[in-house]
Amino acid sequence: MFRIVERQRVNPEVNRFVIEASIIAQKRQPGQFVVFRLHEKGERIPITIADADAQAGTITVYVQELGKTTFQMGRMNAGDEIADVIGPLGNPTPIEKLDGEVFAIAGGVGSAEVLPIARKHKEAGNKVIAILGYRSKDIVILEEEFRSFADEVYVTTDDGTYGREGFVTTELKDHLEKGRPIAEIIAVGPAIMMKAVCDLTRHYNIKTMVSLNSIMIDATGMCGVCRVEVGGETRYACVHGPEFDGHKVNFDLLLKRLASFKEEEKISLERYQAAVGAQDA
Ligand SMILES: Cc1cc2nc3c(=O)[nH]c(=O)nc-3n(C[C@H](O)[C@H](O)[C@H](O)COP(=O)(O)OP(=O)(O)OC[C@H]3O[C@@H](n4cnc5c(N)ncnc54)[C@H](O)[C@@H]3O)c2cc1C
Repeated sequence: MFRIVERQRVNPEVNRFVIEASIIAQKRQPGQFVVFRLHEKGERIPITIADADAQAGTITVYVQELGKTTFQMGRMNAGDEIADVIGPLGNPTPIEKLDGEVFAIAGGVGSAEVLPIARKHKEAGNKVIAILGYRSKDIVILEEEFRSFADEVYVTTDDGTYGREGFVTTELKDHLEKGRPIAEIIAVGPAIMMKAVCDLTRHYNIKTMVSLNSIMIDATGMCGVCRVEVGGETRYACVHGPEFDGHKVNFDLLLKRLASFKEEEKISLERYQAAVGAQDA
C-alpha cells in the first residue's frame, strides 16, 4: 500500500498528491510516469511523475478529474492508501545541452507533465521558454513554479481572463515568426493541442516532441491498448514513448482512439457519482 502524504486542490478540477513511493522516488527521471490502481478492484490509470523527493521517499503528481477513477482519487485524502503504484514507467526524456532555445509548451494539466522536463533542460544549461495555456484564469496552475527557473514564461487563456487571449499556438506563432533560435519544442497537453502545435511547427521544420496520452492499461507493452501510429509504424506509447516526434504522429487516429469508450466512461462516472451522493460530487 502507498500512503498519501498530502492532498491539495490546486484548481477546481486538479488535485496535487504527494505519495510515499520510495523506490520510484529514487529512480524516476523527467518524462516518466506511474500507473495507479486505487483499490484491488480498481482500473489502472497512468499519471506522470511531476516531482519527487528521493530523501523523503515521495513522488508528486497532479491529477485532473476527468472520469470515474480520477474523480474517486480526488476524494482521497492525506493518510489514505493507494493499493498499487507501479513505476517508474516509460522512457526518460533525453536531455542535453542544445544549440538553441528550448520551448516547453503545456496545455492545462500538461503543465505538471512538462514541468520536470523543462526544469531538467534548464539544469542542462539550456535557455527555457515556457508557454502555458489554460481555458480560463481559474484553472491556471504552476505558473510560479515555471517562473522560478524558466528564462521566459507566457500564459494564454482561451477566454482572455488571464495572460494573452488565445491558444498556446497564438503565442508560439509570434516567436516562430520572429525567427528565434529554437533548438527543440516539447509540447504536452490534450491531443488536439499537441496536434495544433505540430501543424504549426512543421512549416518551420523545428523538432517538436510530444508526450502521448493514449489510453493505456498494462503499460508493459503486452496489451497493445496504447498503440499509436508514428511514421507509419505501430508504436506502444507505454514502452516506446510516451514521447515521440510530433511531426510523425497520426493525431487523427489518436483522437479517434481516445474517444473509443466515451459512452461507457460517462455511464461509469454517473453511476459512481450517484453512489457516493450529491454532496461529494
Ligand atoms: C503516459 C500518460 C501520462 C498521463 N499523465 C497524466 C497526469 O499527469 N495527470 C492527469 O491528470 N492525467 C494524466 N494522464 C491521463 C489520465 O491517465 C486519464 O485522464 C485517466 O486515466 C482517466 O481515467 P478516468 O477513469 O478518471 O476517466 P475515464 O472516464 O475512464 O476517461 C476519461 C478520458 O481519459 C482518458 N483515459 C481513460 N482511461 C485511460 C487510461 N487507462 N489511460 C490513459 N487515458 C485514459 C480518455 O481520453 C478518456 O476519454 C496521462 C495519460 C498517459 C497515457
